Amino acid sequence: MSARAAPPAGPLRIGPIVAGPGSRHTGSLRAIQLADGSWVEFPLMVVAGTRPGPTFYVGAAIHGDEINGIEIVSRVVRAVDPRALSGTILAVPVQNPLGLRGQHRFPVGLLLKSPLDQSPADMWACFPGSPEGNSTERMAAVLYEQVIARAEVLLDIHTPTTGGRYAPFAFLPPRRLGAGARRAEELARVFGADFILDAEQGMYVGDGTPHVVLTARGGVGLGVELGEGGRLEAEPVERGVRGLTNLLRALGMLPGPIEALGRQIVIQRMTAVRCQRGGLLHLEAELGGDVAAGQVLATVTDVFGEVVERIRAPHAGPLVRITTFPTVASGERVAQIGVLR
Ligand SMILES: [Zn+2]
Repeated sequence: MSARAAPPAGPLRIGPIVAGPGSRHTGSLRAIQLADGSWVEFPLMVVAGTRPGPTFYVGAAIHGDEINGIEIVSRVVRAVDPRALSGTILAVPVQNPLGLRGQHRFPVGLLLKSPLDQSPADMWACFPGSPEGNSTERMAAVLYEQVIARAEVLLDIHTPTTGGRYAPFAFLPPRRLGAGARRAEELARVFGADFILDAEQGMYVGDGTPHVVLTARGGVGLGVELGEGGRLEAEPVERGVRGLTNLLRALGMLPGPIEALGRQIVIQRMTAVRCQRGGLLHLEAELGGDVAAGQVLATVTDVFGEVVERIRAPHAGPLVRITTFPTVASGERVAQIGVLR
């Protein structure tokens, strides 16, 4: 038995929005109150089609420094004509409004004030949330219960955190969740990711992540990572717009052909490559390309210009993520290489 909400009879009601067939709405949904009395609110877009179809949820910026997804969501959802839509789109372009205020992964103001009480602080890992929990858990509960739980399909759009860049990348729920996880892989291919992570362990299959929670409860969820944290970039946004449009077409929600996109290489995990020495980081290998075992990925120079380290690939595979910070300290992650499934 699915724990998701039954389809509403009559118009869809979410917060202040009442969406009848063939209508589009923007509004906001109250989450928590701050000390000055103001409310943290989720921005919400609803497009209700004129024909029956799935309820599709898309969210971005659940980490507050992940900007590309905000633009992808708003561009695609604004362009949908409700008269051409089958089903319903629920979109939250900023899932972590407090994080966005500081353009930081976490709601950093609360976290700095009270690190212990505000842990856990990663909203992405807090689903389905808790109405009795800390600030982050309460925000997750409002978002899950009032919006996400109504959906049959979920797409969660990320970038790496600030200082990182992925080649177009999708992540799936764990295979042990059965048919929903297999469907998520089909949708990741439709989206057109270059790399699709099908992991059994690690943060991308965490029990509290929204794509895993919805899939465990009978829906289908997946996430994508496009571009670099802390930036707004034309090329990853364009790729995301095309991928999200493909997805809506594949779900039968919008008319139109599905475009072939991306390398669609499935990996089962990634090896993090870290530096030994501190200094300036010079990347040598191409993001998204294949590297050979022993190939130099990057060099580190000291502040006098001397090369102090050549960082080599520990094994062959695709270079799926790089660090974009200009400096590194010993132990910082420089790159991630995929291990093929
Ligand atoms: Zn993220």
